[in-house]
Amino acid sequence: MTTVLTPASPLTAADRCDRCGAQAYVRVVLLSGGELLFCAHHGRKFEPELKKIAAEIQDETERLTTVPASMSEEER
Ligand SMILES: [Zn+2]
Repeated sequence: MTTVLTPASPLTAADRCDRCGAQAYVRVVLLSGGELLFCAHHGRKFEPELKKIAAEIQDETERLTTVPASMSEEER
């Protein structure tokens, strides 16, 4: 018995970007049934393309923004 759709499980450190091998934060389930993993960088880069072929996009890049806000503020 094969389950095609997996429940949205959190991406882990074991999930790697298909492009660069960095930790994946975006999971793309394709209409064709395949699955792609991307890091935040590539997830954003390919998002316009992915939206055309994706059945579902699981975006966990927000987990990256847990950096202290002061770090991302530009220097004054
Ligand atoms: Zn990447």
